Amino acid sequence: MLLEVRDLAVAFHTRDGEVPVVNGVSLAVDAGETLAVLGESGSGKSVTAQAVMGILDTPPARVTGGEIHFQGADLLTVSAEERRRVRGARMAMIFQDALSALNPVLSVGFQLAEMFRVHRGASRAEARDRAVELMKRVDIPAAEQRVGDYPHQFSGGMRQRIMIAMAVALNPALVIADEPTTALDVTVQAQVMDLLAELRREHRMGLILITHDLGVVADVADRIAVMYAGRVVEHAPVRELYAAPAHPYTRGLLESVPRLTGRRGELPAIRGLPPSPLAVPPGCPFHPRCPLARDVCRVDRPPLYPVSEGRRSACHFWEEAIRG
Ligand code: SF4
Repeated sequence: MLLEVRDLAVAFHTRDGEVPVVNGVSLAVDAGETLAVLGESGSGKSVTAQAVMGILDTPPARVTGGEIHFQGADLLTVSAEERRRVRGARMAMIFQDALSALNPVLSVGFQLAEMFRVHRGASRAEARDRAVELMKRVDIPAAEQRVGDYPHQFSGGMRQRIMIAMAVALNPALVIADEPTTALDVTVQAQVMDLLAELRREHRMGLILITHDLGVVADVADRIAVMYAGRVVEHAPVRELYAAPAHPYTRGLLESVPRLTGRRGELPAIRGLPPSPLAVPPGCPFHPRCPLARDVCRVDRPPLYPVSEGRRSACHFWEEAIRG
């Protein structure tokens, strides 16, 4: 495996002590593979991604347990300098909001070229040529003319393409995309997802796609890990998960996909809201919202039960869930 996360735990430091926000998360992604990590906001998916990238704010967040193996090394035990080197060249991240991730006072061409100058020792002219090439590769029209333009002069979709260009510039082995299309309209979302899938194939890179929307990952992901209250609750190959989810929460997410009518923050097919990390219910954390919940669910936390080869579910009644 290119990346293997084992039993990762992350806690936020608060005035009242440490609050666990990621609890024993295990994930893996191989070269050329796409893993989608799915969950509502507060599920711990972005914090997991930040822990892998080594960009958790410290304080208030810190890794409290687990291992993150990347290309043979445990990133939690290497020096800060080695971690920075990995992050610069072998692992890259794409953020939701390209406008705040790009530097507003530098042209996009300069920002792209700088990657080649700093990490590859390219001359100014070479680096500029590489920047233009990359802009063409991510389909920025009139790249030669626009290389000197600033981030605010591009549309949201174009800015996201530029962020993707920056992420893949140094040919990283792993790219983590955190809600890369959430701020875009539906047509542009599909184009950006296609571009990511194409680049992943071309460069055989591993891709982790963090999202709250099952609708955007169906065509691009190989496997999906569904997170709830800081834990993975279902992990499955994408086709099997879509055909018959083995966890009531996944089923609720799937049933919410085409509907946009719920109140803000609410999934139409699942009643209630996810718990705060300060008040995670005992037993199965999903029990207050679960249509299949019974007494045992309020007391016993379900482990990740094996469902089939490569598939697991943290539901005591996964067989019932899978039958629908
Ligand atoms: Fe629902 Fe119980 Fe399964 Fe949790 S363990 S998802 S509450 S049926």
